[in-house]
Amino acid sequence: MRDFFLTDEDRAFRAEIRDFLERELAPHAAAIERDEDWEAVRRVVRALGTAGYMKLMFRDLYEGALSKPGLTHATMLSEEAAYLNYAFETTIATALSCAYPLHAHARPEIRERYLTPILEGSAIGSVCMTEPNVGSDSASMETRIRFDKPAREWVIDGFKRYISNATKSDIYIVWGITDPDVVPQKGMSAVAVPADSAGLSFPRTYDFMGRRGCVVGEVAFDAVRVPEANLLGQENAGFRIMLGAFNFERAILGGSGLGVARSAFDIAREHAQHRVVFGQKLGQKQLIWDMVAEMSWRIDAAELLTYRAAKMYDAGMDGKELMREAAQAKLVSTETAVFCADRTVQILGGDGVTRQFGRAEQIYRDARALPIVGGSSEMAKYLIAAREMPAIKPNL
Ligand SMILES: Cc1cc2nc3c(=O)[nH]c(=O)nc-3n(C[C@H](O)[C@H](O)[C@H](O)COP(=O)(O)OP(=O)(O)OC[C@H]3O[C@@H](n4cnc5c(N)ncnc54)[C@H](O)[C@@H]3O)c2cc1C
Repeated sequence: MRDFFLTDEDRAFRAEIRDFLERELAPHAAAIERDEDWEAVRRVVRALGTAGYMKLMFRDLYEGALSKPGLTHATMLSEEAAYLNYAFETTIATALSCAYPLHAHARPEIRERYLTPILEGSAIGSVCMTEPNVGSDSASMETRIRFDKPAREWVIDGFKRYISNATKSDIYIVWGITDPDVVPQKGMSAVAVPADSAGLSFPRTYDFMGRRGCVVGEVAFDAVRVPEANLLGQENAGFRIMLGAFNFERAILGGSGLGVARSAFDIAREHAQHRVVFGQKLGQKQLIWDMVAEMSWRIDAAELLTYRAAKMYDAGMDGKELMREAAQAKLVSTETAVFCADRTVQILGGDGVTRQFGRAEQIYRDARALPIVGGSSEMAKYLIAAREMPAIKPNL
């Protein structure tokens, strides 16, 4: 049974969200890919917010029918959205990554001003960690944030790149060094920067091989000033805030990978059962069974690991207690997406690399970013090995 970890209520929710996305997202999916139709993305984000689905992660704010909403359901939303259109899913996953620290750490007035509209689907958010010289090694970031005491304002100088939703967001959560005299883990802070702040600019957006329709770009901070109240949590507590979001993001990414993998697999199965080669169905050939069988077990493994991590989180586990399981979910699901996308193209032959014959080539291009974003596969392996060998520190 593929959805072994899910309850009947969870399964009913999956059917509900699938119906919703079939109605609201599926009719726009082709335009998001073909025309990079951002307005379509915005409309579906609004619809999700209006229906209350952006609040699944936040039990105190959620008003829907689920008795215990949580990461399990947010992960299902990601999975089902990624199944239909991965670019769209990245937009909401990023908005949730922005909402999460706002919910946990923002002052009440900032929470009200920025979190509420994100959860209602009327605003978009971004998280800004990656820089030109700093990706996986996020502790080495060069962005500086200093407090201007007389003005009671934080002043941000730095440059972030690969920022999802850049130019489209209403609010940017930015990490930077506030105390350069200590190790970055103890001298980093996070602030909320509104999109209309003076000194904020967007030098360029990127042109990716896949994920067409979402927007990712650079964000530059040139003496950007925000009020004292825009600090998240305490000064110099930014690294912990960053780590605090990683487990939840990895489970969500597990859902994204799973959705992309399943969308490829469905195309492959359909083709293998209908296409005739050498007088027989393609799927009757042993070399093709092998690919179908391997996609099948990899998808099951990805699903079990992803919902194990989500269920553990919903049961109250987080931090180091969940690090290995969340990293495994992200690693296996995203690598499975790439594997299934590749084998599906192979099974389809020429049709697999042609835009005119379905989505296989799109899924192949989309999937490739998954083992890189949100912490690469190599970083996930480091986290897993670190938990398995507590007596030594793997050499990064
Ligand atoms: C589409 C997209 C959207 C993104 N959205 C966001 C966003 O919204 N916000 C944000 O802050 N960032 C975002 N990112 C950035 C993303 O998180 C980084 O790309 C990722 O963390 C890797 O960093 P890097 O690209 O600098 O690669 P690097 O860190 O330079 O790594 C390059 C390669 O080397 C490997 N590597 C690095 N260190 C080691 C080591 N010690 N041992 C072995 N291998 C190693 C990595 O795994 C990778 O394969 C996004 C990226 C993409 C592509």
